[in-house]
Amino acid sequence: LIGEGLQERWRGRQRFVVCELGFGDGTRFLAAVDAWRRDADRPRRLDWLAVEPHPLARGALAGRPRHPALARDATELASQWPPPVEGRHRLVFDGGAVVLHLGFADAHPWLRATEATVDAFLLDGAMAGLDAALFRSMARLAADGARLVIRAASDAVCDGLAHAGFTIAQPGSGSGRGTAVAQFTWRGERDRPRSARSRAADRAPRTVAVIGAGLAGASAARALAEDGVEVVLVEAHGEVASGASAVAAGVFHAAVGSTRSEQAGAHARLARAASFEIARDARAAIDAGFASGRVDGVVRAAVGPVVRVRAVSDARSDPVDGTIDRLLDRAGALSATGIALADGGRWVRFAGVVEPRGLVRAWLASAGPRARLLLGRATDALRPDGDRWHVLDANGQTIVEADAVVVAAGIATPTLLAPWGAKHWQLRRVRGQTSRAPAGTWQGPAPRLPLTGHGHAFVDAGGGLVFGATAEPMAVDWVDEPLPVRPADHAFNVERLRRLLGEEISVRAEALEGSAGIRLVAPDRLPVVGAVPESLDGSGGPVRFEQPRHIPRVPGLFVCGAFGARGVLWSSLSGRLVAAAVTGGPAPVDSPLVDAVDPARFASRSVRRATVRASR
Ligand SMILES: Cc1cc2nc3c(=O)[nH]c(=O)nc-3n(C[C@H](O)[C@H](O)[C@H](O)COP(=O)(O)OP(=O)(O)OC[C@H]3O[C@@H](n4cnc5c(N)ncnc54)[C@H](O)[C@@H]3O)c2cc1C
Repeated sequence: LIGEGLQERWRGRQRFVVCELGFGDGTRFLAAVDAWRRDADRPRRLDWLAVEPHPLARGALAGRPRHPALARDATELASQWPPPVEGRHRLVFDGGAVVLHLGFADAHPWLRATEATVDAFLLDGAMAGLDAALFRSMARLAADGARLVIRAASDAVCDGLAHAGFTIAQPGSGSGRGTAVAQFTWRGERDRPRSARSRAADRAPRTVAVIGAGLAGASAARALAEDGVEVVLVEAHGEVASGASAVAAGVFHAAVGSTRSEQAGAHARLARAASFEIARDARAAIDAGFASGRVDGVVRAAVGPVVRVRAVSDARSDPVDGTIDRLLDRAGALSATGIALADGGRWVRFAGVVEPRGLVRAWLASAGPRARLLLGRATDALRPDGDRWHVLDANGQTIVEADAVVVAAGIATPTLLAPWGAKHWQLRRVRGQTSRAPAGTWQGPAPRLPLTGHGHAFVDAGGGLVFGATAEPMAVDWVDEPLPVRPADHAFNVERLRRLLGEEISVRAEALEGSAGIRLVAPDRLPVVGAVPESLDGSGGPVRFEQPRHIPRVPGLFVCGAFGARGVLWSSLSGRLVAAAVTGGPAPVDSPLVDAVDPARFASRSVRRATVRASR
């Protein structure tokens, strides 16, 4: 199907987005990558969205007979093949120039929850469920003039496509509209205008200033650079990762709740998607020598007796890969961790520990010359100027001028975004301190895998026992100054450590080291990522504003942060999310999850509350 006019359409384009319904064994995708690679006039970036309700097991995939020319990529596809867990998975080829966004789901809900602008659709007329609802979803995603290629379309399918706005461009060769490959072009009218959220990317910025070089800013810079954008990263301090990301090590895992409904909720689904992204990045940063850490799983201690529910993954275990998580009884926990956890726990596979500053350095290295770092330049204010933004210092001088700005300044974010109503988001500051007992200064059980539950504990590469962290809300008027490491917080952490391990442990208090920082936390404890909304001042708005995607945006202004206590987990995915918001590229997660982190969600909630009040 790739020979059928797609190549002519992608030539000279910066980015080309294909949507394939029914990925199968990936033959069409592999053939497209092969054609893309051999085309001197190829787009810089090929995004391939594909859905597959019945994914093959990795073993079966590798053994599929395909054309010998595709063998190398077929092996690569098999090696990156994700665990068979519902959601969107990101597979990367040619250093990120080709991205496969693979959804394991049914086509209807997957398309409905897709946020992208699609240049070409590929589908098979024999596919089940080709109906008006599906065609409407495709019309919603279609770029103007998008091409649709279908094999063996029946007359009913052709009529349905025409009804949705796809005009026949080339009937199936030799047999009218019938059995062979037919092509359509989208020239229809959308029954609803594009959402305000998707219009935020209409500026197609070439240069973006990112404020803050912590986990959020570095991840955003890396993702934007991969999308072909020139980035200037503006950092107040003389070193990257100088805020909360200065913490020596961060534990990450996706374990959220233990009941099935908790695991199906937005927080858990987002955390699972985030864990796949960060596990890959952390492993790469560790392997390349940028960061210390490990990515061989984490055990989350059960709080209370283990609820014997079926984990999402238990129903979908992959015979080759094993599950993404596993319930452990007391004996299982003991053999996995060396600690007799009273109530057992849950082993989570895409999880580990990594040094945040090393991760930041790895992302900046992978962004390469497209991301320029300005250290020691504190941003005082942001000023729009026509289609451009000025990033200003305390003297009102322009540090940098850009088409768009991403504010990723940790706890300084609400202040920088105050002119656009960020106070209505009610982000809070929470102080935290971790403790470290160096090797030789503690005695007791040593967890073989990082443990989490009430706090966390792990043994680092130097034999030190790291544990914590505290959480203490800060006064609103707190000003930026070095944070003292407090003995009382160490004592609190030691007490929690004893409870987590369930065993006596002796720690020489005077030898304890620590690091303290401030986290930014949203009321719903989810990150805040996307295009900054116009301020509604809590004054309500039309009913459609009950959905964040319809709230108008400040042109060219974006935010990435409020990672709370899970900054390592959220960072990688959030960088991708904000880059998609800036460039209009495919969102890496379903639209309800984009809603869940959208900075416009706070305004939507107040509109919903106002509607309820008015109806009483
Ligand atoms: C003690 C402690 C322990 C933690 N443990 C874990 C853990 O185990 N696992 C986990 O996932 N997370 C953990 N976290 C949370 C995690 O560290 C944070 O969520 C994350 O680092 C936040 O990243 P960020 O990039 O949003 O903010 P920051 O790391 O604060 O980065 C913001 C950057 O912006 C810069 N900046 C600020 N203002 C300006 C300005 N005006 N102009 C230019 N630059 C500016 C700052 O210097 C900084 O470098 C912990 C946090 C703390 C405090």
